[in-house]
Amino acid sequence: MSNSVKIKNLTIGGGNKIAVQSMTNTDTLDTQATFAQLESLQAAGCDIARIAVSSADEMEACKGLIGRFEMPLVADIQFDYRLAVAACEIGFDKIRFNPGNIGSAQNVKRVVDAARANAVPIRVGVNTGSLEKQFEGLPPAEALAESALKHVRILEEQGFYDTVISVKSSDVKTTVNAYRLLHERVEYPLHIGVTESGSELRGTVRSAAGIGALLIDGIGDTVRVSLSGDPVKEVEAARMILQECGVDKDYCEIISCPTCSRCKYDLKSAVDALKRETADIKTRVKVAVMGCVVNGPGEAKDADFGVAGGGGGKAALFADGKIIKTIETDQIVPELLRLIHGKIGR
Ligand code: SF4
Repeated sequence: MSNSVKIKNLTIGGGNKIAVQSMTNTDTLDTQATFAQLESLQAAGCDIARIAVSSADEMEACKGLIGRFEMPLVADIQFDYRLAVAACEIGFDKIRFNPGNIGSAQNVKRVVDAARANAVPIRVGVNTGSLEKQFEGLPPAEALAESALKHVRILEEQGFYDTVISVKSSDVKTTVNAYRLLHERVEYPLHIGVTESGSELRGTVRSAAGIGALLIDGIGDTVRVSLSGDPVKEVEAARMILQECGVDKDYCEIISCPTCSRCKYDLKSAVDALKRETADIKTRVKVAVMGCVVNGPGEAKDADFGVAGGGGGKAALFADGKIIKTIETDQIVPELLRLIHGKIGR
């Protein structure tokens, strides 16, 4: 199990709940737009939000955001140690910063002192795109892990251990292998994700492949799905990956058959309506929506509730694998909602 690191009111690592994170893509100088995006992220279930801060003016603009959110805010700093120090001092809850990028040991010490004084953890994040020349000859996953460990050791030399590590590539296998290496070698919490995943569908699939492989191996303490576009989609995708990997079990899971010619009702509309109506449920309930009685009840026998279409506008409603009554197909959604609400006490 990894060590734990406290970020404001949230602890990651050490077997704590896996935190979902995202990053704003508004202009950091535009405090109002960034505030609005952070609000949307928080409402979507984002646990930690990161903001790129590239200048003193942007740091100044961020003062208008600090203290206004329950979720911790992270400043993403590239090369300027003064911005890293300022981020710790103005109230950011964490910084993403690679100490090997700023050269002087004195400057690293300034950042570490500011981080320690303000209880601000540091994420060391290495991407294949920014690997140092010294690691070029190594296999890609090994190069990523070694580069990250180089930065981590610089912090350790300063006696700083409140560190989270990420090693990302846009290649799924490289990413997974790099995290596996780190998982074997260190106990720091790992921020997992596949970088530059791409647009919504491709990016979600790529992220699910990489993050899913790691989560199933028990690797990862915080998750970021990287998608081009609206970061709220990243949070939604990350939540679904956690659910599908069995990490987050407290939700209403709806399974449905792919349909074939035996299905005689509008299954897709029923599933869409149920998903909409149950999206806010934070209790474990499993519901099966099946096209027909031929295979439906059998295939969905581990569901709490389910429905299987029959002929003549009828469907069989079942609970715990047993048929409890026959209903009209236009009653599928209200009948299932009634059962679901009964189970969760609504
Ligand atoms: S449950 Fe019935 S309708 Fe759905 S795919 Fe299977 S056989 Fe076809």
